[in-house]
Formats: sequence, C-alpha cells, structure tokens
Amino acid sequence: DRYSSFLGVPVVRYGNVIGVLTVQRIAAEKLGEEGEAFVSTLASQLSHLIQYRAPSSERNANLRLEGIRGAPGIGIGSVMLSENNDLFSAPDTKCSNIETTIEQWHVLLEQVRSDLRDEQKALSGRISGSISAIFDAYLLLLADNTLIDRVETEIRAGHGLATAMRLSVRYFSEMFKAMDDPYLHARHEDIRHLGNKLYDTFKGGAEPDKVESQSTAIVLVGNQISASDIASIEKGRLAGIVSTEGSSLSHVAVLANALGIPAVMGLDEVNSFESGELVIVDGFEGQIVLRPQPELLAEYDALITQNVSLSKRLGELRNQPAITLDNTWITLFTNTGLLADISPGLENGAQGIGLYRTEIPFMIRDSLPTEEEQYRVYKKVFEAYVDKPVYMRTLDIGGDKQLPYLPILDEENPALGWRGIRFSLDNVQLQMTQVRAMIRASGSGSNLSILLPMVSSSDELDVFTALLDDACQQLIDEGLDIHRPRLGIMVEVPAAITQLHFWVDKIDFISIGSNDLSQYLLALDRNNKRVAARYDHIHPAVLSEINRVVGIAKRHKLPLSLCGEMASDPEAVLILLGMGIRTLSMSANKLPRIKWLIRSVSIKQAEAVAAQALALDKVSDIRSLTHATLIELGLAELLH
Ligand code: PEP
Ligand code: MG
Repeated sequence: DRYSSFLGVPVVRYGNVIGVLTVQRIAAEKLGEEGEAFVSTLASQLSHLIQYRAPSSERNANLRLEGIRGAPGIGIGSVMLSENNDLFSAPDTKCSNIETTIEQWHVLLEQVRSDLRDEQKALSGRISGSISAIFDAYLLLLADNTLIDRVETEIRAGHGLATAMRLSVRYFSEMFKAMDDPYLHARHEDIRHLGNKLYDTFKGGAEPDKVESQSTAIVLVGNQISASDIASIEKGRLAGIVSTEGSSLSHVAVLANALGIPAVMGLDEVNSFESGELVIVDGFEGQIVLRPQPELLAEYDALITQNVSLSKRLGELRNQPAITLDNTWITLFTNTGLLADISPGLENGAQGIGLYRTEIPFMIRDSLPTEEEQYRVYKKVFEAYVDKPVYMRTLDIGGDKQLPYLPILDEENPALGWRGIRFSLDNVQLQMTQVRAMIRASGSGSNLSILLPMVSSSDELDVFTALLDDACQQLIDEGLDIHRPRLGIMVEVPAAITQLHFWVDKIDFISIGSNDLSQYLLALDRNNKRVAARYDHIHPAVLSEINRVVGIAKRHKLPLSLCGEMASDPEAVLILLGMGIRTLSMSANKLPRIKWLIRSVSIKQAEAVAAQALALDKVSDIRSLTHATLIELGLAELLH
C-alpha cells in the first residue's frame, strides 16, 4: 500500500523458475535501466546460491521432491524412517586389551554373517538367485581378509573396535567412491551399509521406528537404506523406498527392481519427512509427493492400476518373438559387462549380447587383469550365451571411465582425449592380451564379434586389423583351434560417418553408439547438470546423422545395430524402426517394453513417423509427434 512502484525479476536455475526477486519503491517512479540490470544480475547470482524450499503453504500438502529414478513403479504408503546407527559418526574410542578386542571383532563378524543369512532366507522366494547374490556379496566382503585384517591392524594400533571399523570401512568406501564408473562408484554404498550393519549389531541393534497409521503399506525412508532394512519388513507391506544416498546402480536400487518395489534415490531433503505421514513414491519420474491430497491420490491410484495390468501383459510376452504387425523380425540384444548382469538378459529374452563393455571387468579390480584372468571372465559369457552372438567391445577407458590403477589424468578435455581405441592402440601389449583372451574364450565357436570403440580414422582400423591378424596367427601357432572373429566398429565419433564408405571392405558390421554420437554431435556433456536438459538423443541433427548411417549401411550391405540409450527409449525406437534399423541392444530390464512396442506397430506406421520426424527442426515437435503416435497405438503406458 505504501509502495508505488514494483519490479519483479524471475530467479531461474537451469531453466526452471524457482522464485521471484522483487523490489518495491515508495517513490512513484520506475527503476532505471541500470537498477533493472542490477536486480537481474543479482537474481541470476542468487539462483545458484539459495537453497530452494517450497513455501510454507505448499509444505502441508502435495509437496513434490525430486530425486533419481531407483526402481520403476508407483507406491503409496506411510513413512517409516530407517534410523540405522551410522558407523561414520561413531566416536573415537581406545582399545584397552588388543586380544580381547580382536576376539570381540570375530564374534561380531560371526553374528552379522548369521543375521545376513537369516535375512537372505527371509527374502528368498521373493527374489531370484542372482539378486539374492547381493547378500552373498555382503557375506563375501565379511569373509574377505582384506577387511578383516585391516580392522585387526587398526585395533593393534590402539583403536577401539568401533573406531577400527570406522577407519577401515571408510578406507574401502572412499576407494570405490573415487571411481568414475557409475557401477563401481555405487559399490561404496554397499560397503558403507555393511559398516552400519556391523555397528548396529555392535551397539545391540537399533529400535525399529514405529509406524502409527491406518495404512498398512510402508514407505521406507532414510539416508542409508540397506538390503537388510528391506528384508526386515514383512512381505507385502513395503510399498516404496526413498533414500537420500544412492544411485540407480546401487544395490538397494537393484534389489528394489528385483522385488518390483518403486524406489527414488538421491533425494536432498529427507529431513522433510515425518514418521507415519503419507507419501507417494513415483519411481518412473524419480519423484516423491509428501502429504498428497485426495484428488492427487486418486490420480496416482489410477496409474498404479494401469501399471499392474502393463506388467502382467509384458510378462506374457517373454517367450514371444519381437516381430512387427507386418511380420518384420527385429533382433533384440542386451548390453552387459558384469557377470551378475548376464542372467537378466537371458531371462528377458535377449537373443545375444549386443554390447559387452569389457572395461567393467577391468574396473572392478586393483590391477590390470592378465590374459588368463580375462579368459576366465569372457569364457563364462560364452558359456551363458552358447551359439548366440556376443559383441565384445575392446577396452573403452578414458573420459568418464577411468581405471583406478591406471588413471588418465591432467587432460583439459577428457572426452576428446586419450579414450577408447586411441588408448588401446598406444598400449599395444594390453590390446593384444585382451584380443587373445577373447578369441581363446570363444574357442572354435563362431559367435564372437569384436567391436572397436571411438574409431575416427582409417589408420586406427588398419593398425587394429594387423593386430587381430597377429593374434589369430599366434594362437594357431600355439596349436589352438580358433575361429577368426568378425570385426566391427562403434559409430560414435561423427568423423566415422563421413569415413564409413572407405571402411566397408575392412569391417563386417557397425553399431551406432547413440550416447557418444549425440554428445559429440551436439557438443553437449549430458553428465553436466547445467546443460543436461538440452541433451536429447532425439535431436534433429542426431536423427539426420543416424539416417545417413542407415543409408550408407544399406548401400554397402553392412549389418547395423544401435546400442546406446536410444534403443530403450520407445519414442526413439519408433523412428529408428522407420529408418530401417532392425537390431537394437539395451539393458535387460528395458527389453520387455521395447518388445511390446515392436509387436504393436507396423514398419509402415514407423516409416511414416520417421519421415515426419526427419522433416521437423525441433526436439519438442518430434517428441509431440512420437508421443501422440504411441497414444494412438494404444501404448500410452510406455510413455512413463
Ligand atoms: C554409446 O556411446 O552409445 C555406447 C553405447 O557406449 P558407452 O555408453 O559405453 O560409451
Ligand atoms: Mg560410447
């Protein structure tokens, strides 16, 4: 009332308006241009400094909080706070009697092992053998002398048991945390969970939080949810999991996926939760809604019903072929790199491995594997996929994938640096060892294809081909019965597209790596939060280049597949099918959804969508088109 002039400037963070900065004046005069510029600058500086908190009016109802997708699905239930004893906050204690403390450590180990076995039993029947292996992994860590000895060493240095455990667990956890590979990085949480479990038992067990609610469904909320927390909740009551820590690759997320429990990880604000209040966990969007109101609850209830029927339908497709309405067969492969990931691919009907990322077995070690060690790992892959195609990619390290024992440091632009084949060919002995191990593992079988990452020049291809000739000759000279593998390249560096016609006689196939291809075509790092919203593999430039690759491959009769994230995005798959791509490789859990899409569309329809998409110049218009098409095809559920 006292003010006569007003200026409002939006506070924008990463493209989202998170508030408004306002200036009011008593004097009835407009703020000058300079003043306006000053407030705008202030707002943009502030946007990165202020902590966003919902206004109090919103805090009471429908409070939406953003996290990361942990496991798909929607769950509604009452908050149950998991308040484990956190080993990392254990106070410093001294050890009064070394031998007694070491004895106490071994008794504790035995107790926790026995508890873990009980929890594993409690969950058996609800989870498959490979998932139950999470408990085996915990048990293995507990049986591993590296950890046991380290705690003993700390005790001998005079620390009390809790401190000795804290120091040792922190050491191993930090080691994994420093690894760039998302899978290995996520393992630091497992070690930490195990540490908390040890500490919990040491302190005599934490009192479980009591849920006083009329609702029987529970949503487990905490900073550090562990597999043991999940096991402790009786069957059928757990509706969702919310964790402040953890990624989509942490064991809790893996377990939640296996149990079909929606999960959201990496949520900033676990403090907003109170025990017993209602919460919706939306694992599709990686969001939660606290204190939902009746209309919103009804909407989510409808989504849950829809979802149950979708899972049922997808389950029925497991043994059906991936064939379009107009009888075109599509080959569906899986992407993998871990032995633990092998069975889900087969369980979901993968016809082979379209991308075996060999860097993963290299990363989960603390030194370079020998030829023999690699041979043993690869052999297991061929044993699981007898007579099925296996595309093994040579080591693709560098950039965001570092080996802990061979870090490539001090690069100004790691994504443009010593990566993939550039690194491998400069370490020829390492490359030779790997190629020999692959060929030996596939034996006289003909299902091995070798895939080269980041190829951008003819020289790279020629040098590798000579190395492959050499490896085959060496193995023949050693008296082995081998089969020369087929050789192909990842099309992921834009230069490869232009060069492709030169290479058609040198290679047997190509696979489009849409993740890197999009990153390099758009000059966009999708792991960079500031530009992540701009990254979309459905970008017109990416589509146009993929279409060009398909054309070259067709002209030269070069077999083609696509193995980036695009292969599991139903909207993108519509366009890819329309362009002529007939082989897709994706993570195992995405296979059933893509199969459903394939079986619900004709190539003719897909071609029409691709033709329209290729004529559009905006991502948003392309997404509107594919979105509408999926709805028309009765596949709206795939949009979640
Ligand atoms: C890709 O770049 O699309 C790809 C499949 O390889 P990676 O994600 O392992 O770099
Ligand atoms: Mg790549």
